[in-house]
Amino acid sequence: MAETIFGRIIRGEIPCHKVWEDDHVLAFLDIGPLSRGHTLVIPKEPAERLDQLSEESAAAVGRVLPRIARAVIAATGAPAYNVLQNNGPEAHQAVMHVHFHIIPKYPDGSGLGISWPAGRLADDEGRELAARIRERLAGDRG
Ligand code: 5GP
Repeated sequence: MAETIFGRIIRGEIPCHKVWEDDHVLAFLDIGPLSRGHTLVIPKEPAERLDQLSEESAAAVGRVLPRIARAVIAATGAPAYNVLQNNGPEAHQAVMHVHFHIIPKYPDGSGLGISWPAGRLADDEGRELAARIRERLAGDRG
């Protein structure tokens, strides 16, 4: 995988406002926050996208995400927050190293703005799609 700015932050070559570090995970404040307390949680493993991350790193991130989210809302007083995880430039990923955003949402509206143009899942399409996904999962040993 190509070098990214997050790789340099992990190695300590670029400073960050760190809030958490363990053997597998680093968390720090986003330099371009959507709202006060916007935090990034990243695996130290150099994977571009979530689907390329090892189960060990994924588990390590999942283990600390709730704890870091609790600390962010307690420290900021935000009543709500979003967890966002972008994969691929088409999905708004700018830094090609897996990261989870914790984005506090405030009563003044600051935080993540979401467009959610919901459709309606047809029964036959749902049956067919779920079967295809189950088939892939059955063949994926992680
Ligand atoms: P993405 O769009 O890839 O999901 O989000 C990447 C995030 O990384 C952005 O919110 C951006 O502000 C943040 N970011 C990019 N470069 C740096 C940096 O050097 N330091 C910090 N702390 N955050 C960064």
